[in-house]
Amino acid sequence: MIRKKICVANWKMNKNFIESNDFLKKITQKDLSSNSCELVICPSYDSLFLFNKLNPQLSLGAQDVSYLNSPSSTGEISVDMLTSHNCKYVIIGHSERRESLNETNESVSLKMKEIYNSQIIPILCIGEKLDEKLGKLTYKVLEKQITKAFSKINFKSEKDVLIAYEPVWAIGTGQAAGHNEIKQNMKLIKKIINNIYTNNCNIYLLYGGSVNENNASEIINIDNVDGFLIGSASLEVNSFYKIFKQL
Ligand code: PEP
Repeated sequence: MIRKKICVANWKMNKNFIESNDFLKKITQKDLSSNSCELVICPSYDSLFLFNKLNPQLSLGAQDVSYLNSPSSTGEISVDMLTSHNCKYVIIGHSERRESLNETNESVSLKMKEIYNSQIIPILCIGEKLDEKLGKLTYKVLEKQITKAFSKINFKSEKDVLIAYEPVWAIGTGQAAGHNEIKQNMKLIKKIINNIYTNNCNIYLLYGGSVNENNASEIINIDNVDGFLIGSASLEVNSFYKIFKQL
């Protein structure tokens, strides 16, 4: 099946619910109809409820989910809670969480297991750090992140999964990876996926790392790039909208 391109906004810990509401009011005044691109907003948890009354041309995602399935888990948010907000997507394994909050390949695999059996589509973030890239460890790192993330699930042919390839050194730096590097690493990811799947689910690949209105059209045309995961350039209505219009 040919899927639309996907443009995901990761707002991180930006925008309280008043600011989120303001963004939503502005963006929904624009023409969001598109046959070629799905727009997804991942606000912080406290703004999820704003989307319930929103226009069907915007999909909703969360930035994380708990793998604990006991209610005795203070401060955690379950897959069921995200489902009740009509979340279609959830990000897992973002490098900022791996770096600052002890997210490991093991905890990512537990989250993947929780999500995989729900209606929600995971957006699995993977990517190498600068020293790993320089040490020519990119393939090893990506292979480990992907293999481990899927190690606890039984594949279903009808399930969609998005993998966001985000070189850590390109996130928030203004320095996106180059054309050839993205092309080569997307190819590596395809190879890793093909090696581990006997019973394929539907995998789509996003690129993330300093995507903006000036580099979006070049990157989206690289082989195997099905969309973007966007941080900084998703915070401002006009820049995010300009990227969307190029997809
Ligand atoms: C991100 O944090 O996932 C990201 C891609 O950020 P930025 O677009 O700001 O590099």
